[in-house]
Amino acid sequence: MTHSVLAPWARIEGQWQKNVLLSWDEHGRLTDIHANYQSVPGSSLHQLPGAVLPGMPNLHSHAFQSAMSGLAEYRGQAQDSFWSWRDLMYRFALKLRPEHIQAIAHWLYIQMLKAGYTSVCEFHYVHHQPDGQAYTPQHTLAAAVVQASQDAGIGLSFLPVLYQYSDFGAQPPRQDQARFLNQPEALLELLLTLRQQYPEQAHRRYGVAPHSLRAVSPDSLRTMLTLMDEHFPHSPIHIHIAEQIAEVQASLNHHGQRPVQWLLDNASVDRRWCLVHATHMDEQETVQAAASGAVAGLCLSTEANLGDGFFPAPQYLEAGGAIGVGSDSHIAVDWRTELRLLEYGQRLLHRQRNVLCHPAQAHVADYLFDASIKGGAQASARPVHGLQIGQQADFMVLDLHDPILAGHKPETWLSALVFTERAGSQPIRDVYVAGQAVIQEGRHAQEDQAWQRYQHTLHELLQTT
Ligand SMILES: [Zn+2]
Repeated sequence: MTHSVLAPWARIEGQWQKNVLLSWDEHGRLTDIHANYQSVPGSSLHQLPGAVLPGMPNLHSHAFQSAMSGLAEYRGQAQDSFWSWRDLMYRFALKLRPEHIQAIAHWLYIQMLKAGYTSVCEFHYVHHQPDGQAYTPQHTLAAAVVQASQDAGIGLSFLPVLYQYSDFGAQPPRQDQARFLNQPEALLELLLTLRQQYPEQAHRRYGVAPHSLRAVSPDSLRTMLTLMDEHFPHSPIHIHIAEQIAEVQASLNHHGQRPVQWLLDNASVDRRWCLVHATHMDEQETVQAAASGAVAGLCLSTEANLGDGFFPAPQYLEAGGAIGVGSDSHIAVDWRTELRLLEYGQRLLHRQRNVLCHPAQAHVADYLFDASIKGGAQASARPVHGLQIGQQADFMVLDLHDPILAGHKPETWLSALVFTERAGSQPIRDVYVAGQAVIQEGRHAQEDQAWQRYQHTLHELLQTT
């Protein structure tokens, strides 16, 4: 059965088109897109109440971290850093039970949908009980997250994490990393079990995430990639690559190479890869990473929060590199904030305006939006490349009467969305995933129930922090 709607405006392959008929099949796959559509008088065709933007894929999430937002914003030692934040995050992770993880992920995914993120790549690394013992069944925590995504109705690329060591040179893991540890074979087992219980479909895909070059050895990385090639060919591979200067230095000390360079020289980095926090790259790494076809996974709000540094965006984009955005620690759950911070970082650094654009697209927000849909879809390895035939009917409907958008013409809608903030504004009205309306007038059907459970969870977790 085909469903059709008529949008007064829709962004099709980077262009605003008027009176667009969108049709999709029973699997939520777009089967027809027709601009300048003339509906017959008296037609019962459903008219969408605003302009339509493709849904944004969120390419990097650690769902549980959203419940610790705001807990680490005070000086605890002479010089706080990413590493002191990580200690707090580890302490927080030790308290999580399966029902906490499910409640947090469910609430978070509803928030993502409200923001117009229609799918998420979940980089999932809490696998075991606090002392490192496996749960029965082993995939209890992974299943909690996958179930939460299904309940919320968000598309998912699930990436269980391979974590083995505390630093370069296969340093033994710390006691507080016991929940994260796995061997490649055990991780494959977990993926196979999950795939049996939650099969791969257009809205769900599996891949793997070697945590970082700190946490895996060259041998285990190779083993994991070989196992994936056998059992999950063409699956996405995500890695935290060069977030911190200390990490770059440790890589230089151990391998004699910077992390991005080492990875490019020692793994077949291609379009399956997402290099999350490719923040610290020299000129050669920047050009080679861009040429590899991999996506740079940018999480600007988290990177700013953790004091990571500036991604060399102008050089990387100039070299034709692919980008996408993620909400990572969820200090913000909003692609508009990510795109704004991406541009603002460069403005502050270079003391210029309108840095990230292109001769063919002078509007920064439009350029970054289209690039992030494309790169986010590639990193998700799912058919979420925007409003094109054969892709999922994932989209958001903008309220053109919202104070942010009112009075604007189509050519500045995205600029207004990305660069303007107003109290009480809610420009994203409805959100569809695979043709299903999951957010209507800013609300999700499970919102009240999810909020009750989330509040209860927060109460349990935060009273002992
Ligand atoms: Zn991360």
